[in-house]
Amino acid sequence: MNLETLARCPLCQSSEFTNVLLAADYTTTQETFQIQKCVNCQFVFTNPRPAASAIGKYYQSDSYISHTDGGKGILDRIYLMARNFTLRWKEQLIFKQQSTGELLDVGCGTGEFISHMKTAGWQVTGMEPTEIAREKASQKVKEKIYSDLSEIHQTFDVITLWHVLEHVHQLNETVAKIKSLLKENGTIFIAVPNHESPDAKLYEQYWAAYDVPRHLWHFSKTTMQQLTNQHGMKIKQVVPMKLDAYYVSLLSEKYRHPQQSSITSMIKATLQGFQSNRRASKEINHSSLIYIIKK
Ligand SMILES: [Zn+2]
Repeated sequence: MNLETLARCPLCQSSEFTNVLLAADYTTTQETFQIQKCVNCQFVFTNPRPAASAIGKYYQSDSYISHTDGGKGILDRIYLMARNFTLRWKEQLIFKQQSTGELLDVGCGTGEFISHMKTAGWQVTGMEPTEIAREKASQKVKEKIYSDLSEIHQTFDVITLWHVLEHVHQLNETVAKIKSLLKENGTIFIAVPNHESPDAKLYEQYWAAYDVPRHLWHFSKTTMQQLTNQHGMKIKQVVPMKLDAYYVSLLSEKYRHPQQSSITSMIKATLQGFQSNRRASKEINHSSLIYIIKK
């Protein structure tokens, strides 16, 4: 294993960390990884972690290859319904900030979101580091898809990162670069899991959104606030992604009880997802959160 160890917290530069829990890579290698917390600012991260040059093998799993549109099983159909619902919901969320313009999707995967937004009238640009996904995206969207942010030299009205920031090794560099690509009145949408959500507390080391070692950073509202402040930006609004509580609970049930039947896991995940959303609603502390950010 080619691991690297963070010596300093990327938010506050402290070098004093404490162990939080050990989690396993349930989708690919079954290896275990330590999750640590900065004693000074409470930022949580996977440490040690695979170096950027060695993380590729942890993405070699079917669950990271996007579902095809040809799925016939009930789970495929539910997945596609949820995906289409989410695409329209994200479009409406963005529409509340701006009705049209130039949009950059960072970590665009196989391009479902930018394809949807292009149809809705936006000028879209995608960035995706994984070659196979990037090629699929460029076929689907008929636009050039960049492999790295450093190749992009224009500014955007809207920049989106849907469950992407937790995967990037260079956290501060990425946030600084994104800010530099944003127009003065532009808006950034960052969706990340929330390790302080009720479902995270319930499932502990089995919580699927720890997703080690692919998730390098584990954010909360407090640490996301700190990150944006540090880069001279402001969080305007925090919006819950309520479907994530069900999906994450279903995966977590499977990790915690591998022998449990699928139907039992689905029933328990539905109950836990519902309860997590209910408990999270007062404080907006859901399983995954979207941060709407301005310069
Ligand atoms: Zn810190």
